[in-house]
Amino acid sequence: FADRDGVIWLDGELVPWRDARVHVLTHTLHYGMGVFEGVRAYESSDRGTCIFRLKEHTDRLFRSAHIMRMDLPYSKDELNEAQKLVVRENGLHESYLRPMAFLGSEGMGLRADNLKVHVMVAAWHWPSYMSPEARDMGIKVRTSSYTRHHVNITMCKAKANGNYINSMLALREALDSGCEEALLLDNEGYVAEGSGENVFLVRDGVLYTPELTSCLDGITRNTIFQLAADCGYEVREKRITRDEVYIADEAFFTGTAAEVLPIRELDGRVIGEGRRGPITTQLQSLYFDAVKGKLSGHTEWLAPVAG
Ligand code: PMP
Repeated sequence: FADRDGVIWLDGELVPWRDARVHVLTHTLHYGMGVFEGVRAYESSDRGTCIFRLKEHTDRLFRSAHIMRMDLPYSKDELNEAQKLVVRENGLHESYLRPMAFLGSEGMGLRADNLKVHVMVAAWHWPSYMSPEARDMGIKVRTSSYTRHHVNITMCKAKANGNYINSMLALREALDSGCEEALLLDNEGYVAEGSGENVFLVRDGVLYTPELTSCLDGITRNTIFQLAADCGYEVREKRITRDEVYIADEAFFTGTAAEVLPIRELDGRVIGEGRRGPITTQLQSLYFDAVKGKLSGHTEWLAPVAG
C-alpha cells in the first residue's frame, strides 16, 4: 500500500506517496494516541466529484483532538482544502479519504509533552467495503465476546487510533467464526455498534438505534436520521438488547466505509425475511442518491473538490 504512485498531504505539503514516511519512534505508533477520520468522495451528476459531509467529518476530527488534548496546527478550513486537494491531485473520483493527526518522535514517555502534532491526508480508490452481494443480500453477524469501550476507559466520542484495537479483535473473531461483521455490546450488555459502524433495527415500521453513550456519533447515522425523517419514519434512540435484534423485522449497519449494509442474520438467528428488508432498501437507495447529489433537498452535504 505504501509503494504506489500518487501524493499524500503531510504537514502542509504534498509529498510523493512513497516518501510519506515516519520514524519507528513515532509516539502514536507505540501508544495509539492519535485521531483520524474516514471520509468518502463520490461522483455527482452535476457538480463533479464531491466529498460527502466534509464539514461534519472535519468537525468531528477537531472534537476528537480536543478530547485527546491534541492541538491541531491547522484550521478546519485548511484541512478541508487539504482533503479536496488530495482528491484532485491524485486524479480521484469515487474515493476514500483518511485524515489523521498523530504525535511525533521527539520523545517516548507517556507524558507526551513537547511532541509535535503531525497531520496527514491520504486518499485512494476504495469502491466498496463489502461485496456487492453483501450490500444487496445482507451479512451474517455475531455478537462479539469483546465488550465495546467503557465510557471511562477510552473516550467513545473520539475517533481515536487506539480505540480500534477493540474493533479489530472483534472483527477477527467474527470472521474466524464464519461471519462478516461483529456486533459489540456495551459494558452493561446492551447493543452498542459494529466494529466500524452504527447499527439500526426496524420493527413495525419504526427505526431504533442505540443511544450514543458508548458508540461513535456516526455521520452516516445522522444522515439516516434525516433521510428517515424525509420519508416520515420515526427513529427512536433507546437501549437495545441483542434479542431485540433477533426479533427485528430488519436490521442494518451504517458507516462511511460500509455505507448502508443490511444484516440478515445475528448469532444464527435469521432476521426478518433473511435478506434486505423494504425499509432498509429504501433508505439505502436514498443514501446512494444523497451521496451522488441526486437528492435536491440535501445538496448542502456535498463539497465539490474542484479548486
Ligand atoms: N462506529 C465506529 C466505531 C466507527 O469506526 C465508525 C466509522 N467511522 C462508525 C461508527 C460510523 O461512523 P460514520 O458514519 O461517521 O462513518
